[in-house]
Amino acid sequence: MTDGAAAVERCEILAACTDEPGRITRPFASDAMRRAHEHVAGWMHQAGMTVTRDNIGNLRARYEGAGPETLLLGSHLDSVRDAGKYDGPLGVVVAIAAVQRLHDANRRLPFGLEVLAFADEEGLRFGSTYLGSRALAGRLDEEELQRRDADGLTMAEAIRRFGGDPTRIAGDRWSGARPLGYVEVHIEQGPVLEGLGLPVGAVNAIAGQDRFELTFTGEAGHAGTVPMKLRRDALVAGAEFVGAAFHYAASHEGLVATVGRLMVQPGAANVIPGEVTMSLDVRHAADGEREAAGASLLDLARHIGERWNVRVSASPTSSRAAVRCSPRLVALWRKAIGEDAVELASGAGHDGVYMSEITDVGMLFVRCKGGISHNPAEAVDVADVQVAVDVLSRFIELL
Ligand SMILES: [Zn+2]
Repeated sequence: MTDGAAAVERCEILAACTDEPGRITRPFASDAMRRAHEHVAGWMHQAGMTVTRDNIGNLRARYEGAGPETLLLGSHLDSVRDAGKYDGPLGVVVAIAAVQRLHDANRRLPFGLEVLAFADEEGLRFGSTYLGSRALAGRLDEEELQRRDADGLTMAEAIRRFGGDPTRIAGDRWSGARPLGYVEVHIEQGPVLEGLGLPVGAVNAIAGQDRFELTFTGEAGHAGTVPMKLRRDALVAGAEFVGAAFHYAASHEGLVATVGRLMVQPGAANVIPGEVTMSLDVRHAADGEREAAGASLLDLARHIGERWNVRVSASPTSSRAAVRCSPRLVALWRKAIGEDAVELASGAGHDGVYMSEITDVGMLFVRCKGGISHNPAEAVDVADVQVAVDVLSRFIELL
């Protein structure tokens, strides 16, 4: 079996570790995660690594080198609800495959390799993302341990039941010398590589992301008696904005904007909508472009509101700057890929966002079918995964 086929088979094995029979749902600190850990820790051992689990629940496996320096590799093992098989696990099994090659050849590098299998990136259970990489970067606040899951269990208690000590998380932060870098292999979750007919590509940035909540306030009234020209229909204005935001983003290179949640009040068939609240998510790989787009979109909303005699208010709910991948590591990925090397930006967030606080970050994207992710239809080609293992191995050699 090729390394690519073996890696895909391991993703299948991990897909069977789920809390919901019939679909893949592997939350933070769950029974499903415990079973996944048994498999992954076994594979890490086979590859000649010493394995530990830190208190938040990250598996951390080290393949010693001749010197004290370390290259970090990894991805996350948790999933969204009704997930695919590859978002996260692929990066873990490909990293292990690259270490296995060194172990099989009985080789030691001048630096150590540490494979990280993060406990939580998606935030399914506690609605708080990147728990694993934030713990490693020393950026997990103690108050967050009091967050509760859908069953009312606190994060601290979930960590205890999983075998960790919530009071000792701070001590797990990376405390050694600055690592040589953090590298992650991940499915693209977009259609760029498929469109180019390429198996892999080097990531040059993880897009920044702004979220806003917009409220359109008009006036509720009787659907049968208020004449059309006297209406202040909040949904007519809101709906116009949804379309306008789409067209604005579509006409700006690299920009994406999404209204994903909409609440209509009072929400009755025979009442004119008096108030509409909606989310707005704006992303771009360049911070300046993202900020300018956010401001323009809010202006657009106000103009549309004025036209419909509807008041518009907006407030930011979260903002995250783009993370530039290290030019040194991007260049190394390009060299490892060879002639066909392309660079692309990631629209999705990744553990690299927080790992960038402790080291340089580099990512390799693997083509996935139709750009589909966070969906059971997620699919990769075995041949592409083989390329990913080869490229990662070359990358490590070049480093
Ligand atoms: Zn992921």
